[in-house]
Amino acid sequence: MTFTSCEDEQLDNSQEQLDNQLVTGKDFLQEVAYPDTTGKLVTIQLNGESVEVEKIGDEYIMQGDMHVIPDDMLPKDAKSTGRTTRRWPNNTVYYDIQSSLPNQARVTNAIAHWEANTDLTFVRRTNQTAYIYFRTGSGCSSSVGRTGGRQNINLANGCSTGNTIHEIGHAVGLWHEQSRKDRDQYITINFQNIQSNRAFNFQTYVQQGIDGDEYTNALDFNSIMLYGSFAFSANGQPTIVRKNGSTYNAQRNGLSAGDISGISVMYPGNGGGGNDICEGVAPWSSSQSYQPGDRVTYRGYLFERTTSGWTRIGQCGTSKSASTQDLPDLNDVAKN
Ligand SMILES: [Zn+2]
Repeated sequence: MTFTSCEDEQLDNSQEQLDNQLVTGKDFLQEVAYPDTTGKLVTIQLNGESVEVEKIGDEYIMQGDMHVIPDDMLPKDAKSTGRTTRRWPNNTVYYDIQSSLPNQARVTNAIAHWEANTDLTFVRRTNQTAYIYFRTGSGCSSSVGRTGGRQNINLANGCSTGNTIHEIGHAVGLWHEQSRKDRDQYITINFQNIQSNRAFNFQTYVQQGIDGDEYTNALDFNSIMLYGSFAFSANGQPTIVRKNGSTYNAQRNGLSAGDISGISVMYPGNGGGGNDICEGVAPWSSSQSYQPGDRVTYRGYLFERTTSGWTRIGQCGTSKSASTQDLPDLNDVAKN
């Protein structure tokens, strides 16, 4: 009995905190995967690097709202995480929406905003393996970049269209703007004001040990991916300030000019943003003869003809080489 009421109280307090943030306008609803819960800090291997993340239940959460999967839990041919990899091939993002998700206009409006301002196209999933699944969750959260399977964007009722635009930003590969490796030129992180166990949310992607790059010249205070000055504050004092000490208001209305500029580098209008090694390569055909150096696709992988057979180069939809076993072998079926 006591336990139940204690739990209820926690939930109520948490909801109140979120509502206050929304109502006061001091900060927008900060995207947090599990606003009720502070998980256990654990160190995992991510792309071969040791990274500190929060473990909540079975999920590993980095920087408050980004799901990550430790290396040892990934399928063998999985791709690395971050902004320089895991792009969506051919500028095409597949998605589906949980039928019971309330206020689905948040999703369709957010997608319309992305399509109107970038060269990305969002297509309702039919049988694709890799797709975003918008569903009800206890906060707002997303994976960063294309995972290769079903990847959830969790949306609590308090997550707005703007929050959804932000989470889609993660899903197509954007880090938080304050995670730029040059961010210290523009902002100061007040670690003493940050909630305990949340400090790692304010590390750069370099400090987190994960791949990334800067696609614009400077930190963009208008970015929809930037935390506000009071994000994860423990004491009402700012956690992020400009170099001159002043606070700023982050926005969750839409992509900024800087966001759009960065995305246009990651996903250029020619559709080359996928870094897809199979792009423009024809599937293998049994009725065609091939010369050494010729390349084909076969069962989702890129192969190159050599003098003695076929060499598997890597998996379509990535820029990475294949290195694992139990993959399709064109030599099994092709004699030329
Ligand atoms: Zn985020």
